[in-house]
Amino acid sequence: MHAEVLINLPARRLDRTFSYRIPSELEGQVITGSLVQISFGRQNIEGYVTGLSDPDESEPEGIKDLTAVIDKGPVFTHEQLNLALWMSSYYLCPTVSALQTIIMPRLAHSSRQAPGLWPLKTPEIESLFKRAPSQKAAWETALSQPGLTRLELAAAAKVSVSAIDALTAKGMLTAKKRAGKNPFPLNNFIESRPFDLTAQQKTAFDSIFDRLKKKEHQVFLLNGITGSGKTEVYCHGVSAALGMGRQALILVPEIALTPQMLNTFYSRFGEQVAILHSRLSDGERHDEWMRIKEGSANVVLGTRSALFAPVQNPGLIVIDEEHEPSYKQEESPRYHARTTALEIARNKGAVAVLGSATPSVESFFSAFCAGAYQLLTISERVEKRSLPQVHVVDMRKEIKKGNQELFSQALLTLIKNRLGKNEQIILFLNRRGFSTFISCRECGQVMKCPHCDISLTYHINGRLICHYCNYTAGAPRFCPSCKSGYMSYFGTGTQKIEFEIKRLFPDARVLRMDSDVTSRKGSHQKILDAFCQGKADILIGTQMIAKGLDIPAVTLVGVVNADLTLYMPDFRAAERTFQLLTQVAGRTGRSDRGGEVLIQTHSPEHFAITSASEHDYQSFFEQEIKNREILNYPPFSFLGRFLVTGTVQMEVENTANTLYSIMSKIVNSEGLYNQVQIFNAVPAPVSRIKNRHRWHLIFKALQIKQLQDISRACLNEFDRRYPSAKTRIIVDIEPQNMF
Ligand SMILES: [Zn+2]
Ligand SMILES: [Zn+2]
Ligand SMILES: [Zn+2]
Repeated sequence: MHAEVLINLPARRLDRTFSYRIPSELEGQVITGSLVQISFGRQNIEGYVTGLSDPDESEPEGIKDLTAVIDKGPVFTHEQLNLALWMSSYYLCPTVSALQTIIMPRLAHSSRQAPGLWPLKTPEIESLFKRAPSQKAAWETALSQPGLTRLELAAAAKVSVSAIDALTAKGMLTAKKRAGKNPFPLNNFIESRPFDLTAQQKTAFDSIFDRLKKKEHQVFLLNGITGSGKTEVYCHGVSAALGMGRQALILVPEIALTPQMLNTFYSRFGEQVAILHSRLSDGERHDEWMRIKEGSANVVLGTRSALFAPVQNPGLIVIDEEHEPSYKQEESPRYHARTTALEIARNKGAVAVLGSATPSVESFFSAFCAGAYQLLTISERVEKRSLPQVHVVDMRKEIKKGNQELFSQALLTLIKNRLGKNEQIILFLNRRGFSTFISCRECGQVMKCPHCDISLTYHINGRLICHYCNYTAGAPRFCPSCKSGYMSYFGTGTQKIEFEIKRLFPDARVLRMDSDVTSRKGSHQKILDAFCQGKADILIGTQMIAKGLDIPAVTLVGVVNADLTLYMPDFRAAERTFQLLTQVAGRTGRSDRGGEVLIQTHSPEHFAITSASEHDYQSFFEQEIKNREILNYPPFSFLGRFLVTGTVQMEVENTANTLYSIMSKIVNSEGLYNQVQIFNAVPAPVSRIKNRHRWHLIFKALQIKQLQDISRACLNEFDRRYPSAKTRIIVDIEPQNMF
């Protein structure tokens, strides 16, 4: 018998299976789905068995034996393998990377379940080891570190697992079960009862229910304004799916997994809820995973990777805040959770609900123009609360009036008013730090990170910090290049807002929330709790505060500078601006006291700002879709990106240019020049990070399949020509981020 093995080395060139002979002593212990050890080159590595075959007479030359069986398994199902193959062909990632993303906690499980090994003293040991140095090494390691599992011991002793098995067979090691871990604790929750649905919520739910009942796959886009109670619709959908004996999966962006959200689900569905997010330990993740697998948890609430939870028969898959860019994984495999969720929903015959107050242009186009999704609209807030009134302040006029400060007169007046009434205020600026760069007034030198092509951000503690690699240095008093003492500080971050607010309103109690203060575990929650309990008057923050907060006492939201996202070098800049402004504005007006929003900008006439100020998604969409069509950007085309990185600038540039010429040749020879457009290779917007130079190549195709085929052909040709290239090529299909 032969086993087809997918090798656990995530490299483009090894992305296929290799045949190994199953030695007679392992016959029957290897199945499709086993985790095995094989020798590859001069290494002993792990591999996944994806199939077995009966070889004919002529065996391939030099076929090797499997070394050992690590876990007979199956550690993955046929369905999981198919999903991995789909991800690999869609995103051009190595199949093994996709497979590990899908089954990762399953492996954590096997090592946790595995018993520990303890050495048993036996006489005449020295003679036993004469011919077996690896067994000797394993024995000595077991003596110094008793209780390791079979795999851990093999790794610690740097020997193959067969050496461990041999020791066990000789009775020199004994297996005992290790102590288990406490199950994931259920939080204390406040009771939250189901509400009666409003008429619009009911209409939306009825459409979802109808498809659930018919067991038909359908994608819905639930476009409900902020505060319209989308969660309530999800909860009714979940109940319906459970009532039909199926399960439900609810995905939320990391940042939106707030206690309020957890509370609602725990309170409605109790012990049936499993929570999965990136801050869980392997053990916690394993326990939640097992509860899902055994069928005791039928409601899975979690972030991106919860998508791969072993839900047997999901009836409903919800992707909340579907427009969030964080649904795209920014490391291999670079998959988008929404796209992948829709693939899973299709395969499982599940109903998918994409929810958002500000849908992505692509999703809204699919629903509104292409008819691929069914559009469900909720245009009223619960209890008929009105949307906050939004004022736009033209900062150019402030400058003409002689106001050079960060805050307009109008904003200062409103802040004073709210402080006087003991109401709460949120101030939003999507940039952290104090000053975003320092430069010399005499020679123009800008203080940059020595490892990245990016200016250093000045922090209030007097340090300069690189926000890409965390390099830090003291702020210089003299220019390092001309020794001048005139150093100027430019650009405003959240720390400067905090500083200025404290100067202008010395009695106000101020909190700040950005990733400079929330890196410690739990600090995020502490700040939010303090603000919710009224222990502060003003909360200053980055986009971290734009989502999920529901605090009735907040009656004023100030957007200090709306232009930061508007002029990003990204075709989604207008969309992101509209989304951020709408989300931030939605943090107010959540009680009878109403709310007001003030947006400061130098571009008050820009349609992203005017339509956000009028809460008018439709008019934003109509303008934006015209721009996308003229420029042939998604949804009118599909986008791909090759990012080339390396330590030698010339090599990076050459690789990028070579990729360009290979791709151009393919497009011409296939006669696709009408359907595929390739931009010249150029340095990436951040042209160096952590001492690696970065160039990129962006291309568009009318069909996703064309985009994938051309990318694949281009990479294959490059690898064939330059098998030992030192540069790294990162492939990003449908990128969300192009810095
Ligand atoms: Zn910082
Ligand atoms: Zn200077
Ligand atoms: Zn840096």
